[in-house]
Amino acid sequence: MEWDRSDTIGLAMERCTECRGAGLRRWRGGAQAPCYCVYRAIFRACYARFRYCVEKEKYLSKVSLVACQGSDRRRTYERLVEDYIADFCLVSRRFLEPRQHRIFRYHYLLGADWRLCCRQLRLGRGLFFHEVYRIQQRLGRVFRELEPYGLYPLDEYFAGRVNGQAPVRPAVAVFPIRKGLPVRPPLKRAA
Ligand SMILES: [Zn+2]
Repeated sequence: MEWDRSDTIGLAMERCTECRGAGLRRWRGGAQAPCYCVYRAIFRACYARFRYCVEKEKYLSKVSLVACQGSDRRRTYERLVEDYIADFCLVSRRFLEPRQHRIFRYHYLLGADWRLCCRQLRLGRGLFFHEVYRIQQRLGRVFRELEPYGLYPLDEYFAGRVNGQAPVRPAVAVFPIRKGLPVRPPLKRAA
């Protein structure tokens, strides 16, 4: 896919030393492509959504009516939350090397902190975090560029229902203002 500045600028890290907050940078050979900080931001957003989906067990049985993509105008029933959880796990397994997927499984799926991961995997702290960054960059890019449907943007994946619900327009009450009257907030009267 073609990336442009509008795709990246909202995701880039403001203090990134590589892209200086623009999200795009020139790589060796002169080609312009997203900075690693953009890929890591996409991964973090997808992972936060994954955790949210896993933890909201009470809604696991919810089914959504979703319009088909493209020229197909039919609608299908889907379990978007379960689909997303499965896609997150399966895409990660498919696109990571076995060694990276082991770290990913321990750290992100099983919740082991860096100390436990380093002990179990016999890795130094620096090497562990280096691999974690590479995993985030790899998966962030895959989640966005995956064809035909990526995991990111999340609102497109969830068909405009990021929180599992249609956006609710807040009720706005309009009160007539009577000019000339003092404002009397409900304060406690002094004894
Ligand atoms: Zn950057």
